[in-house]
Amino acid sequence: MTLMTPEQYEQSLRELNLKVYMFGKPVANIVDNPIIRPSMNAVAKTYELAQKEAYQDIMTARSHLTGNRINRFTHIHQNTEDLVNKSKMGRLLGRETGCCFQRCVGMDALNALSIITYNIDQMYQTPYNRRFKDYLGYVQEKDLVCDGAMTDPKGDRSLPPHKQPDPDAFLRVVEKREDGILVRGAKAHQTGAVNSHEVIVMPTIAMQEADKAYAVSFALPSDAKGIFYIMGRQSCDTRKLEDTTMDQGNVSFGGHEALVVFDNVFVPWERVFMYGEYEFCGPLVEMFAAYHRQSYACKVGVGDVLIGAAQAAAEMNGVAKASHIRDKLIEMNHLNETLYCGCIACASEGRKKMSGTYAVNTLLANVHKQNVTRFPYEIARLAQDIAGGLMVTLPSEKDLKNPETSHWMEKYFKAAPGSSTTDRMRILRLIENLTLGTAAVGYLTESMHGAGSPQAQRIMIGRKVNMAEKRRAALKLCGALKNDTTG
Ligand code: SF4
Ligand code: FE
Repeated sequence: MTLMTPEQYEQSLRELNLKVYMFGKPVANIVDNPIIRPSMNAVAKTYELAQKEAYQDIMTARSHLTGNRINRFTHIHQNTEDLVNKSKMGRLLGRETGCCFQRCVGMDALNALSIITYNIDQMYQTPYNRRFKDYLGYVQEKDLVCDGAMTDPKGDRSLPPHKQPDPDAFLRVVEKREDGILVRGAKAHQTGAVNSHEVIVMPTIAMQEADKAYAVSFALPSDAKGIFYIMGRQSCDTRKLEDTTMDQGNVSFGGHEALVVFDNVFVPWERVFMYGEYEFCGPLVEMFAAYHRQSYACKVGVGDVLIGAAQAAAEMNGVAKASHIRDKLIEMNHLNETLYCGCIACASEGRKKMSGTYAVNTLLANVHKQNVTRFPYEIARLAQDIAGGLMVTLPSEKDLKNPETSHWMEKYFKAAPGSSTTDRMRILRLIENLTLGTAAVGYLTESMHGAGSPQAQRIMIGRKVNMAEKRRAALKLCGALKNDTTG
């Protein structure tokens, strides 16, 4: 099997034995849980579209290991066309789901490790790249979802891992055995964790020699002994427990995050991809971050949905022709397409690494993600402006269905001729979902902090721009270069 169907994916999750907690209780059946299920539906879209011929170029690729057709989420980028298709895939899935579809973190972890394991081997003659390729072959053949687990809880941010009052604030090796290692710690904010078959752990920051025990990367099945999950809450999440759907806005899809705890977990050597090579933590973090910042192409697709919803809301409100509304929609599109430019540009400007993997242009990927920390907020503000206050004062679907109140809601929430009260309520709830509800986690806060908070990108932009070249260009044009003695 190299391409799973959505049904096979669902069945494969049922066969996992994950230990998950939510609202103070263990969750016995994750797949059918009404809060978790929409996030599984979103991941299932990555399988569904890969089955469709129309999306074959975007959603699938040929494995460089076997030549088999595989899902692009398990592919190692072989050229810039692969990278561009990855950005297009993100936009497509964002538009299809209107939320975070979660599978990119694993893809980005695989690609980053394909480069860094090779580089570590070059320096230390370690077997990491061979082990990684064996693992990659397994992931590709089975078409698995991998959780790319990077973010540690980090404890006191002013201290490095080895100086933390609680040594588990960063995930670490606690014991070396003949057949593998024992690890302890946690990974926070893990997108799609309980929809994943595998978890790929990577260090979260650059490290020094004293942090050697923390310089570790490995992969394990998501239900390995000692791993458990505590689900994160999302704004308005319990609406999914109600017996109506309209108030959810997005009736089928959502994302999720969880705290993943590693309570003395054994990792066999065959799945260890870094063990103590602390000087490669920084490069691994940077490589993963650059790929994942490109992955924020997803927000362009979600932006498409929000802009479409704003247009529909304007029509239903009877204001679509007003010039200021039209101008706001143009501004929203301008911002959204500017985001698209960034994720296409960093892909087009990608370069081949020594391992053969293509990496994105780091500077442009960071510029793209920096824009993502800002533009969706402005797009959301304009969508709320167009939607009007009813978006947050609207009574519930149950009130619309209650014979005592239904008539009044139909009478007073009717707007432009031809638009039904029900559809108007639906579109306003979708805008609410995207800008204030469960999907706002993905469209707004995740845009801010996912793949690194804004300052992380500013540091990288500062490091990657060639200021000397710019300065020289200016001095040359004004005739001051010949007198320049400052270098
Ligand atoms: Fe992928 Fe976007 Fe979700 Fe990150 S936020 S996992 S890039 S869909
Ligand atoms: Fe993310």
